[in-house]
Amino acid sequence: MNQYLGGPSLWEGLPALDFAPPASSQAASAPAAGVSGESTVLRFLDMGQSDATLIQQGGGFILIDAADSAHSEKLLHDLQAAGVETLDLLVMTHPHADHIGAMAQVLETFTVKQVLLPDFTKAPLPTTRTFEKVMEQIADQNIPTVTAAPGWTFSLGDGTLTVLGAGVETDNYNELSIAGRFDSPDLSYLFTGDGESGVEQDLLDSGANLSAQVYKAGHHGSSTSSGEAFLSRVRPQIAVISCGLDNDYGHPDAETLDKLTAVGAQIWRTDQQGAVTVRRVNGQLQAESEKEAA
Ligand SMILES: [Zn+2]
Repeated sequence: MNQYLGGPSLWEGLPALDFAPPASSQAASAPAAGVSGESTVLRFLDMGQSDATLIQQGGGFILIDAADSAHSEKLLHDLQAAGVETLDLLVMTHPHADHIGAMAQVLETFTVKQVLLPDFTKAPLPTTRTFEKVMEQIADQNIPTVTAAPGWTFSLGDGTLTVLGAGVETDNYNELSIAGRFDSPDLSYLFTGDGESGVEQDLLDSGANLSAQVYKAGHHGSSTSSGEAFLSRVRPQIAVISCGLDNDYGHPDAETLDKLTAVGAQIWRTDQQGAVTVRRVNGQLQAESEKEAA
């Protein structure tokens, strides 16, 4: 188990993307031999002050979180517009309403093959109606579930999602967030849900490979996430912040923006730019957004 920890064995045969310096060497990252070469598309959907990220690779899809209930129709529309009929995997990073508010509707609307759940042995089981509806929907449709554990992997096309952390013992559901990475021949992506310092420290202590070209800033760019030690291990080229315009939480935090800039990340924000799409085009990692930055 945990074969990916501490050693390079799992990554043999893949281009050394994670350790390549940014920018100048990007064009050298050709797809590995024997793979379809279809590029991975990361879509950071614009769900206001809520979250939904779609990974597309090899004709399949993974959805990480499912927005809040206010964005239910928009989420279903955006997923359909992206060509989703089946979700190979649906990930619930943690059970807060801004991540699971439209999850029951997603389960009703699309064929979902498997759901990855947080490790509820580390926190009191949620009692919200929103959470119960999701679990009832999963049970009604007999959808297989798996509880997150470090080292669990899921293949999608030429890519692999790997769970790196499954939260810490907590009564703060943010710290229950599943953290993981998606690696394909053309890009690497790291997500931590709304994980705060506990989740980040757990990942640092685990010795897992945190280096990633694309990083979704934890907890909507909050000051409680994206600590310096953590970012120094991630060193993303592109950081995406998912948050709502003029939200009540002050997300993203100004210092967090500075810290991301300090490690060399180009910052993209759904509150100012709408949905953000990241993919590799002609060897170059590219982000594009619905709108120009304000
Ligand atoms: Zn959140």
